[in-house]
Order: sequence, then structure tokens, then C-alpha cells
Amino acid sequence: MLRNSKTVPKIPRINPFYSRWPLPRLAPRRTDHAPADLQFPKFRAFGAGVFGVSKPRQVAILGSTGSIGRSALEVLQSHRGRFELACISCHQQLDLFQKQCQEYRPKLAVVTDSANPQVDLWLSGTEPLSTRRACGNKELIEAISGPQVDIVVAAIVGVAGLETSLAAVQSGKRLALANKESLVVAGELLLDLAKKSGAEIIPVDSEHSAIFQALQCDVASNVPGNANTQRHIAEKQSQIEKIILTASGGPLRDWPLEELEKATIEDALAHPTWSMGRKITVDSATMMNKALEVIEAHWLFGLPAEQIQVVIHPQSIIHSMVEYRDGSVIAQLSPPDMKLPIQYALTYPERTSATARRMDWSQSQSLSWYPVDPERYPALELGFEVARRGGTCGAVLNAANEAAVELFLQSKIRLTDIAKVCRSVLQHHDFATSPSLAELLRQDRWARDEVMRWNKTLC
Ligand code: NDP
Ligand code: MG
Repeated sequence: MLRNSKTVPKIPRINPFYSRWPLPRLAPRRTDHAPADLQFPKFRAFGAGVFGVSKPRQVAILGSTGSIGRSALEVLQSHRGRFELACISCHQQLDLFQKQCQEYRPKLAVVTDSANPQVDLWLSGTEPLSTRRACGNKELIEAISGPQVDIVVAAIVGVAGLETSLAAVQSGKRLALANKESLVVAGELLLDLAKKSGAEIIPVDSEHSAIFQALQCDVASNVPGNANTQRHIAEKQSQIEKIILTASGGPLRDWPLEELEKATIEDALAHPTWSMGRKITVDSATMMNKALEVIEAHWLFGLPAEQIQVVIHPQSIIHSMVEYRDGSVIAQLSPPDMKLPIQYALTYPERTSATARRMDWSQSQSLSWYPVDPERYPALELGFEVARRGGTCGAVLNAANEAAVELFLQSKIRLTDIAKVCRSVLQHHDFATSPSLAELLRQDRWARDEVMRWNKTLC
């Protein structure tokens, strides 16, 4: 019997961010530009799961204008069909953001800096038509918490990324986590939330991705989308002697010790092996980055500070290692290119063709490592101290460091002052063992004020 055409429901608008109506997802389109192993069958149908075809996963890239964000967009571009770009966000770089909208056509684009004087003009723009434009953190949080997003790539820099990381985890999403500051500040809260919601936190930071891979998580959880990664890590803990995080040593690795206090902004930003945002590049020069990574590893892999070691590995080829109880060491190697850990966090537990640079085994290559000199890198010890003490320490160290790096980048303090002021603020803070989020944020503000006060006493 033919149905009366009047009774057939209207087809809703295609962009779910316009309708806010969770549409049934279409099976992925075939993409002729994608490598053969990434291509999906030619048919398109509702309820594609019935035919054994995966639906494209909807990805939000927060901080798309940054170094990690731009690499993440490239990874997605090379995996069209497997992933779709649900949402991107930027803070200040509106020109680049507009170009990204036109090139990658996200369903939603959010500018988080509502005080940006150009934002009203940008909001009134219409190209591309398929992209809805919005402004403010609230819009972003609403979007990533909703059914339109499956995976959140957290690539905002600093504690500014915490709220969105919490929202992604609370709503049970996969969090591809580059924003290590989220774990440093609120590791315990984030992991508790993940346990309750079933969210997966997959590290993007290259060292933690390496450890995650060396723990062979993919062997235990070969059911796509159902990986119980945290449980697997917990099972492995009793077999681990220690994890070894590698550090490049940064641009000042070979400087005479007495010259370090003369390092300029340009000197600190000239990283020998990685091209990254300014804040993390300064953190690499002081080795505060590795201090933050010790804390990140402590939370992610549930290991005490005593089972975490840092070695300098100038070539940045070995991204980190796990040493097991029997003395066997499993490492992950690849050229320094963040596209690989970003891709792994998206496709895990599968491995797919990559656009990241590969090892060239036909060329000679020497790999070396040596211990860290604590006199050259006093910031590193702070990471171990925070991993031991927990509580409010992570929030305080992170905030003091963010404020001090900002002062250094404004030429107001020396590079060597950063670790000194961070140590002092950490020592003098009002420690609490199990702080709430509100308490962590209060301590964050206090630590920033302390750094400013300290700076004023210098002037
Ligand atoms: P960038 O400085 O290159 O990019 C930062 C991104 O965050 C930009 O998109 C920026 O927007 C956005 N942003 C800045 N401030 C805010 C704010 N207040 N609110 C919302 N968004 C904001 O940093 P990276 O890409 O280098 O690093 C991003 C994160 O990834 C950091 O946590 C870093 O530690 C981590 N990471 C980075 C690695 C790397 O290789 N770069 C490696 C491992 C970890 P806009 O530019 O538009 O202002
Ligand atoms: Mg790293």
C-alpha cells in the first residue's frame, strides 16, 4: 500500500548542530582520496551497523589553530570516511580559524574568546554555509557534551582546557588528551569522572602515547570502541618495574650552566627536535614540561613517583619505555611527529596508514641517552614532588608555571627564575589533600597572584 505523501515526516536539516536533534548517522561515503585500507564500501544506508560497516566517528578538535590542533586536522583529512569533523574551536586567531572553516568544513565552529573585537564580524559571516558559528565556552561545552560528538581532541593550552576536558569525560566521550595541564591540575577528579561515565582517556602526549603502546593495551582490548583501558593498565601495574620518560633536553641542553640565566626568548623557543606552541617550548627549555609529564604519567598509569624515571634522549626517536619486572624493556620509536600519537588516540585500538614521518632503516642512526643533571633542570624535581604529594600541588605548580612563563615571554623575568618562583609558591601554598574543583581553581588564582606579587618585589 502506498503511503500518503502527507504522512511522510520531513527530513531534518543535515547539520545536527543546527537542529540539535540527534539524527541517525549515515554510513560513511566512499572517499577516493583515502588510502585503500581506509575506504568504506560504496553503499550508503541508515543503520549501517547492520551491514557490519562502522559509522564515521564525530570528532571535535579544541584549539584547532594551535600546533596540535593543526596536526589533528591533517590527520582527520587523511582519514575521511572514518572520521567527520563535528566541531573546532579557537581563541584569538580568527583569520586562521576562518581559513580552517573553509578548508575543513566543520559542522560547528566556536570562538572561545568572546572579548575578541573581531568576533561579531566573524559571527555574521556565512561561508561555508554548512558550518554553524558560535562564541563562548558554554556553547563549546554544550556541543562536546551532546550526541553530535564521539571523540574530543583536547588541544587547548594550559588550565584553560580543563573545563572542556571535564565536560568530555563527564559525558562519556573518548578524550584524546594533549592538554596535559588537565591531568596535572585535576588528575584525581578527571579519573574519578571517567570511571563513573565510562569515558576513555587516551594520551596524545608522545611520551604517554609511547607508554600506552608499550603497555600493549591494544592486545587486551581488540574490540573497537569497547576498550577498558584503565582496567588493563591496572592489571599490568604489578608487572612494571618502572616507566622511563625520555626528554630531548630542549634548546639549552649544551649551554654552559653559568650562561643559562642569559637565555633570551628566541634561545628558549629554538627547540632542536619538536615544533610546538610557545608555552610548551619554554617548558621544554626549563624541563618543566617533563615535570608536568611525570605528574601526567602518575595519574594516567597509576604509578608512584618512585616508578617513574626521566632520561635525556637528544634524538627524540625513542618516545618512552616500560621496563618490566624481568628486566625486559619495551620502547616505542618513530621520528618526532605529533601526527602519529594524535592518530593513534583517534583510531585506537586499530592501527591505520599514517601521514606521519616514518623511520628510515636504510640510514645509519645513533640513539643515545644520559641522566638528567638536576642543577641544569631544577624544575624536574618539582614534578616528582607534586606526584608524591598530590592534592592541591598540581594546580599550584601549573598555575605558577603558566604565570611565570608568561612573564618570561614578556621579558620581565629570566628563564632561570621560572623554577625558582614555582618552587617558592609551591612551598608556601595552603595544601589540601582532597580538594574540590572549586578549591583547585581558587588555588590556581592564588598561585598566579603570588607570582605577580613576587615579580613586583623584583621591580
Ligand atoms: P598552541 O599554543 O600552539 O595552541 C594552543 C591552542 O589553544 C590554540 O588553538 C589557541 O587558540 C587555544 N587557546 C589558547 N588560549 C585559550 C583559552 N584561554 N581558551 C581556549 N582556547 C585557548 O599550543 P600547542 O598546540 O603546542 O599545545 C596544546 C596542548 O597540547 C598543550 O597543553 C601542550 O602541553 C600539549 N602538547 C603539545 C605538544 C606539541 O607538540 N605542540 C606535544 C604534547 C602535548 P588561538 O591560537 O586561536 O588563540
Ligand atoms: Mg611530551
